[in-house]
Amino acid sequence: MEKFDVTVIGSGPGGYVAAIRCAQLGMKTALIEKYPSLGGTCLNVGCIPSKALLDSTEHYHKAVHQFADHGIEVKGVKVDLPKMIERKRGVVKATVAGIDYLMKKNKITVFTGHGSFVNKNMIEILKADGSKEQIESAKTIIATGSKPASLPGIEIDKKRIITSTEALELQEIPKHMIIIGGGVIGLELGSVYARLGAKVSVVEFMDSIIATMDRGLGKELQRLLKKDLGFEFYLKHKVTGVSAKGKEVTVSADNDKGEKIELKGDYCLVAVGRKTYTENLGLDKAGVKVDNRGRIETDEHLKTNVDNIYAIGDVIKGAMLAHKAEEEGVFVAETMAGQKPHINYNLIPGVVYTWPEVASVGFTEEQLKEQGKKYKVGSFPFKASGRARASMDTDGFVKVLADEATDEILGVHMIGPRCADMIAEGVVAMEYRASAEDIARMSHAHPTFTENMKEACLDATAKRPIHL
Ligand code: FAD
Ligand code: NAD
Repeated sequence: MEKFDVTVIGSGPGGYVAAIRCAQLGMKTALIEKYPSLGGTCLNVGCIPSKALLDSTEHYHKAVHQFADHGIEVKGVKVDLPKMIERKRGVVKATVAGIDYLMKKNKITVFTGHGSFVNKNMIEILKADGSKEQIESAKTIIATGSKPASLPGIEIDKKRIITSTEALELQEIPKHMIIIGGGVIGLELGSVYARLGAKVSVVEFMDSIIATMDRGLGKELQRLLKKDLGFEFYLKHKVTGVSAKGKEVTVSADNDKGEKIELKGDYCLVAVGRKTYTENLGLDKAGVKVDNRGRIETDEHLKTNVDNIYAIGDVIKGAMLAHKAEEEGVFVAETMAGQKPHINYNLIPGVVYTWPEVASVGFTEEQLKEQGKKYKVGSFPFKASGRARASMDTDGFVKVLADEATDEILGVHMIGPRCADMIAEGVVAMEYRASAEDIARMSHAHPTFTENMKEACLDATAKRPIHL
């Protein structure tokens, strides 16, 4: 029986990054993945394919709606959805191949099959051909991720009532896509199909879309998705039933006054969150505990209740984000090697890849109010940015929240062009505990969208933006 210093179960961004860091630190490392394709949800049916489709459809939308204003005449622009999907598959294939290369480069032994604990030091791998193999491991990292959640009484038929996985593979443009859940998946994949001409209706339980982010962002995004893509929103509506008959789906919901609505469309995307995945993992055989939501319980070192078993990523508490899983992968590897790594969970940025993009780090206004913290608000709209005017991306703003007494930046919330990339400045500033004045006094290249951050900081620190 082969013996390893550490075995990682699951090859998503948590698992493969953990495996690489373990190997870099000199541990003999194994990685078990049940699918033949490495990379987990993120590379195969999550971050990468969704961004590939978001990019393709953004090009199409610009060609149809903006090129004429730029003085570019294009006639007969058409969508070839199967080709678009094929390109997306190519992007996934190339990215996954990159992980195969990294596993070889780092001399990580990859086992393809379903891993399950025999006991706390032995893992069995069940392969596609039914054969079994056992390995022994001094330590194990569980990185088995998550799967789409559903609602009680709703049967996802994967044809008309679908999850994000099927929505990334549609071969026709829906006429009317009804989306349950105004969170990240609903708005990103809703944007993909709305840009291609589908009518999109979002039914959301809360009184805001992207409700966990700063409320100002959800309000602006809702306005822009309505204006630019014709989204219809049914907020404060709780879905009570979904049925499919032939090519028609019917979604029923109750609003907060108890009134009922019924929507009819040809596809219903259920995007109400994700649930941890620990099926047939043999947690009981290793003695690993889960909490009341099925998440593996971990301490501050991401160690489970069993001494040699750790868990990371979507399968434990916290934001279900690829970069959070990656940080945890590195954290656990370094902890096992005797180092003292650190993760500041408050500074894990959140991004929504709609257009305009939405990005956030640190505390929201709502959280600061709840804490009773006195803070200053600085903001700067993209309509006052020369760079944004040049590219016709004048919607949105950057908002900076700073401590009223010390001027330390407590939160950065932005909606606008390239905010997904721009939020990195907020993360760096906050990791170094910068004041709004620190950022306001640093040179930002002109003309760039990043000047909005400088101006918002000028506004926060002393109410003296230059260009407004
Ligand atoms: P996963 O990526 O879920 O990987 C777990 C792996 O474990 C899987 O490959 C699974 O097959 C394997 N596995 C499970 N059980 C076993 C077993 N017993 N034996 C062997 N293998 C097993 N996050 C972002 O940060 N940015 C984004 O833009 C983004 N976009 C997304 C878009 C969509 C449509 C979706 C669905 C998700 C998106 N996410 C995004 C979330 C992101 O994909 C997850 O947070 C991330 O993949 C979690 O990583 P993980 O390593 O914990 O688990
Ligand atoms: P989510 O938690 O972002 O949104 C789900 C929404 O569904 C919530 O707003 C919730 O109020 C609503 N909802 C729940 N029950 C409902 C009901 N009965 N009726 C109406 N609305 C209801 O979840 P998601 O969009 O499914 O995404 C899942 C995970 O994937 C998220 O944790 C997210 O972090 C991750 N993800 C991230 C990105 C990104 O980083 N850009 C992209 C996609 C997915």
